[in-house]
Amino acid sequence: MPPSGKSGRRLQSGPAALLSPPDVQQILARLNGHGFQAYVAGGAVRDLLLGRPPHDWDVATDAPPHEVKVLFPDHLPAGERYGTITVRTPERMVEVTTFRSDGRYLDGRRPESVSFSRDLAADLARRDFTINAMALGPGGELVDPFGGRADLAKSRLATVGDPRERFREDALRMLRAVRFAAELGFAPEAGVKRAILEEGRLITHVSAERIRDEFSRILLAPHLVYGLRLLRVTGLMKRVIPELDAGFGVMQNKYHAYSVYTHSILAAAATPPVLALRLAALLHDLGKIRVKSVDPGGAAHFYGHETASVELAERILARLHYPASLIARVRLLIRHHMFSASPAVKDSTIRKLIAGVGAKTIHDLIRLRTADALSSGREQGAGGLSLEDINLFAERVERILAGPAAFRRKDLAVTGHDLMQGLSRPPGPEIGRLLDYLLGQVLEHPEWNSRETLLALARDHVDSR
Ligand code: ATP
Ligand code: MG
Repeated sequence: MPPSGKSGRRLQSGPAALLSPPDVQQILARLNGHGFQAYVAGGAVRDLLLGRPPHDWDVATDAPPHEVKVLFPDHLPAGERYGTITVRTPERMVEVTTFRSDGRYLDGRRPESVSFSRDLAADLARRDFTINAMALGPGGELVDPFGGRADLAKSRLATVGDPRERFREDALRMLRAVRFAAELGFAPEAGVKRAILEEGRLITHVSAERIRDEFSRILLAPHLVYGLRLLRVTGLMKRVIPELDAGFGVMQNKYHAYSVYTHSILAAAATPPVLALRLAALLHDLGKIRVKSVDPGGAAHFYGHETASVELAERILARLHYPASLIARVRLLIRHHMFSASPAVKDSTIRKLIAGVGAKTIHDLIRLRTADALSSGREQGAGGLSLEDINLFAERVERILAGPAAFRRKDLAVTGHDLMQGLSRPPGPEIGRLLDYLLGQVLEHPEWNSRETLLALARDHVDSR
């Protein structure tokens, strides 16, 4: 079931609720004043009817691109080939696009040609879903030839025309369907789901970057569990992230009520909506599929699964062309997600963990571990820890961070310069090694972090070699 299968969502109505902001109105008025038709079209109309603030405003017009450029001197011509001129207003960038009717689609992604049209209906007909195929005139009048408003009220996602044909034209629409379902909590019509099952193999025509962008939006959407499940039941997950699909039905041990797959998507949903965290939660346990062993007593073990998960996550994220910095962040979080957090762990171990990963990361690791426990379906999930254990650990981390401890070389009460002077040593790598040695000592004994003690420790260390 979709999260909001209720029929009869209340929509905004009346011209006042469907009004565009003044700068957008001015664009419509200027086009009208020169004898052209002009409408706000697409996503903004959908969002206005839903009472959600639109994040971008697109204008559709029968004015050809060269006329739009003349009427709006402050513009960027990017997208002109497809009829789009981006007009700059004091408030925002507005894409003004000439009514289009798309030519034949040959490559499963883009029309071979686009022709400009005088006809709003033709322009709305090329759009993907009925809820995205509405337009608003300058006075707030709704143009809705495909029943988009009724579908919005029923929380229903339907394509304009036959879904198989529309997905064969442009395979990206299949992922967009799942993304809108996850963002809005809408159920795709049965025919849409069936068409994705039937045409899913065409997803190979979509670039990794476009898949990545839609996937990220699904992961950050309010109804991500529903969206990720839709990806699996429509067969798209197997094509986009087969490594995750493979966790379906892989049961775990006494610490987990759910399969690797279900645990992974619930863990992602239990983290705050930050991409690196959600990706780390989604992928943190994938290595379990590779390293699962069963002991003579019948219990499953997953020794070293963090390392296997890191490898799989890197492979998946690189394939989807995620930026290197994001991959590095996800890798770090997965690498350390099994950090020791039991009440028995010593303060010095916590200080060393903080020194190893940094203060920002320790907070994300705690969020990840909390999500891990919340999504285990057991009282003692996440490697045998309860939520209370993790909360206690988080409190200890806060106390330690607020205290005088040193976590980095520059937190030490001596500098490299002090060591060179105090020990009469030349500059060089030895000084760096000495600072690291002192940091190790201070992580064990924070009370040793004073100038005299550290200089004495350094002298002893040098003499003892
Ligand atoms: P959002 O901006 O929240 O992603 P949106 O509906 O505005 O949602 P855009 O990608 O900005 O989506 O596209 C604007 C409009 O262009 C859509 O509402 C839809 O009418 C049309 N559109 C976008 N992509 C496609 C596509 N692949 N096939 C058909 N129509 C599309
Ligand atoms: Mg948009």
